[in-house]
Amino acid sequence: MKFQKSPGTQDILPGAVERWQFVEGKARELCRRYNFREIRTPMFESTELFQRGVGETTDIVEKEMYTFIDRGDRSLTLRPEGTAGVVRGYVENKLFGEPDLSKLYYIGPMFRYERAQAGRYRQFHQFGVEAIGAVDAALDAEVIALGYSFYTEVGLKGVRVEVNSVGTPEIRAAFRDRLLAFLEPKREILCKDCQSRMDRNPLRVLDCKTDQKHFTDAPSILDSLDDECRTHFEKVQQCLTDMDIPFEINHRLVRGLDYYTHTAFEFKAEGIGAIDTVGGGGRYNGLVADIGGPDQPGVGFGIGLERTVLLLEHQNTELPELNGIDVYVVALGEAAEREVSKTVYQLRARGIRAERDYQGRKMKAQMKSADRLGARFTAILGDDELVRGEIMLKEMATGDQRPVAMSALADELLR
Ligand code: ATP
Ligand code: MG
Repeated sequence: MKFQKSPGTQDILPGAVERWQFVEGKARELCRRYNFREIRTPMFESTELFQRGVGETTDIVEKEMYTFIDRGDRSLTLRPEGTAGVVRGYVENKLFGEPDLSKLYYIGPMFRYERAQAGRYRQFHQFGVEAIGAVDAALDAEVIALGYSFYTEVGLKGVRVEVNSVGTPEIRAAFRDRLLAFLEPKREILCKDCQSRMDRNPLRVLDCKTDQKHFTDAPSILDSLDDECRTHFEKVQQCLTDMDIPFEINHRLVRGLDYYTHTAFEFKAEGIGAIDTVGGGGRYNGLVADIGGPDQPGVGFGIGLERTVLLLEHQNTELPELNGIDVYVVALGEAAEREVSKTVYQLRARGIRAERDYQGRKMKAQMKSADRLGARFTAILGDDELVRGEIMLKEMATGDQRPVAMSALADELLR
């Protein structure tokens, strides 16, 4: 019997995982600087949460969810995105009772039933932040700044920021009529998906990947904004300008999720086939109340880590040295072999990266392993040295070697 991983999933192996650790480490460190704190919510939630929280007419809810009935007859869904779960956790744990707003972040796997291709998987990972509890446009800008800094600090080049305002549900309702008047004459030349979206959620037609060429003259939602929405959007832009964060306005940017109000934004980069969006987010002032919480506004983003890692590989960015070991302890002879377990144990306890042989191989084979592992030193323990309480320490780069007292080995390596 041979097993293979499911379509759209990946094994992240040693050699590649170091890049992941670097990227995730950056995200965590950046969040510390911005005072966002981690929240870990379950990988599955009630199906209804996502139907409500993501929206019935979204691609996610319509055709991408991994939904199943458990043995207790509950309908559960593997989380397709992070916001709904975080907001559920915020409400359930009454974080709204705290005097300061909740600035939360998450890193973890998401699940969507999609056609697998480069940059699109069925299990993928997102780094996301959610700031819940304030309407200030400065917070929208801070969230965008955090996302932008993430890309620049991991070393990704050419990431562009696009922003838009999608107004309020009332404004969208009015814009919908203008948009439909524009779309109706084109109905026959639009794709099947767009034709069905026109009937159920026309704004999402603008999100279509294949029909963009037909939308160059589409009416702009920005012309439909009221004063409050316009002021908010202008302040977001002002803050971004003050922070020197380059951005473009894209009035056709509506994003897939239903719950956005005011600001919507995307991070874009070339390099993964037809895919150009690497992350996105926006403000969702109605969502918390929508899923049964108090009327608290929020803003956040979700950044795809596979796409980030793919682009870093494409751009051949260098990684900080995460591999290698400090010392490979070579044992020669039976007595020395017994000693080596204790020696590596003690070195590791002192914070030294130590490795040894487990297969009783000859010295030459052990030295080759030390080389392959990028060991800075080898420490050779033979029966003679053992009697003297010494070990032969060899620096791999120079070939210099000298005996050191066993009791002083850790100190020598830490010098
Ligand atoms: P797309 O337009 O590419 O389908 P989306 O609008 O569905 O993206 P969001 O729901 O906004 O994406 O998710 C935010 C980010 O998560 C995306 O920009 C992308 O980087 C990542 N992402 C979304 N779906 C996948 C997937 N199936 N595989 C890998 N990454 C994904
Ligand atoms: Mg999608």
